[in-house]
Amino acid sequence: MRPTGKLHLGHLVGALENWVALQKDFQNYHLIADYHALTTNLDTSELYANSIQMLIDWLAAGIDPKQSPVFRQSQIKEHTELFLIFCMLITTSRLERNPTVKEQVRDLKIENISFGHLGYPVLQAADILLYKGEVVPVGEDQVPHVEITREIARHFNNRYGKVFPEPEAKLTKFGRLPGLDGATKMSKSADNTILLSEEPDIIRAKMKKAVTDPLKIRRGDPGRPEVCLVYTYHQKFSTPEVPEIAAGCRSGALACVDCKANAANHIIEYLAPMREKRAYFEKHPAEVESILHDGETRAQKAAHQTMGEVHEAMKLG
Ligand code: AMP
Repeated sequence: MRPTGKLHLGHLVGALENWVALQKDFQNYHLIADYHALTTNLDTSELYANSIQMLIDWLAAGIDPKQSPVFRQSQIKEHTELFLIFCMLITTSRLERNPTVKEQVRDLKIENISFGHLGYPVLQAADILLYKGEVVPVGEDQVPHVEITREIARHFNNRYGKVFPEPEAKLTKFGRLPGLDGATKMSKSADNTILLSEEPDIIRAKMKKAVTDPLKIRRGDPGRPEVCLVYTYHQKFSTPEVPEIAAGCRSGALACVDCKANAANHIIEYLAPMREKRAYFEKHPAEVESILHDGETRAQKAAHQTMGEVHEAMKLG
C-alpha cells in the first residue's frame, strides 16, 4: 500500500482484511510503498508521518508484526535493483496498455505521465517477487499489475532459470468499494472516503451526504437496493439485517435518511475495536517505530537472499 495517509474503508475491505486473514496460513510480507507514493506526489515532507499513520491502521486492523514483517520499500535497496533488471524484461507498449494507469491518467488529469509512474507496475513486480510472493491480496485495480508480475516472472525464469513463482491475485468480495459520491472507487484523491480512524460523528455526517437511488426521493417511494451505494455498504457492514433493509427499501417503507443513519451506526460499530487499538499505538510511537525497524531487518534478509539467487541465475558477479 502507498503511504498516502490514514486508510479508508476501501483499503480495509478490498485488501487489508485479506492480509489479516491470510497471515494465519501464509508467511506474509507487508510493504509500505513509499517510492510508489512519488508517482502521484513528489512532496516527501509527509511521507514518513504518513507511513507511520498507515502502519498504525494496519496494526489496528489486526496485522501481527511478529508473524508478518512490515517495512518501507525505500529502506530495502534490493527493490530498486530488481526493478532495474525487470525493466529490461517488459516493453513500454505493454505498460501503456495497463488499464489501471490509464484510469489514473484520466482521473487525475495527468497530461504527461512520468517514466516512473508508467513503470510502477514493474517496481510492484519487484516488490512481490523479491519475497517470492505466491498470493497477492489486492483490490481489483491492482489485478492487471499482478498479471504483469506473472509475465515478468515467466520471462525471467525462461531466460535465466527458475527463481520466481508466478503469483496470483486474491480478491475479497468487495474488490472495488464505491465512494460516498457514488464513484466506482472509494479513494483519497476523489475525496469520497470514510477513514478507518474517523470519529463517529464525522461518519454520521458523511453518510448523510452519501448518494442513494436517484428515483427514491421521499419515504414511500419504492427504491432499488441494487443501484444504491448505501445498500452496498449494508451488505458489508450490516450483514444480518440485509434482507430486511432490502425489503424496506423496495416497499418504500424505509426512508433513505434512516437507512443511512443505520449504515453509519453499523460502520461505527465495525470500526470500534480498531479505534481502540489505534488509540493505543498513537500513545506508543516508540513501539510502532521499533515494529517497523524489526520488520525492515527481517525483510532485508529475505530480499538479500533472493537477490543472491538472481545474481547467480544471471551469472552477475
Ligand atoms: P493504494 O492506496 O493504491 O496503494 O491501494 C492499496 C490497496 O488497497 C490495493 O490493494 C488497492 O487495490 C486496495 N484498494 C484501494 N482502494 C480500494 C477500494 N475503493 N476498494 C477496494 N480496494 C481498494
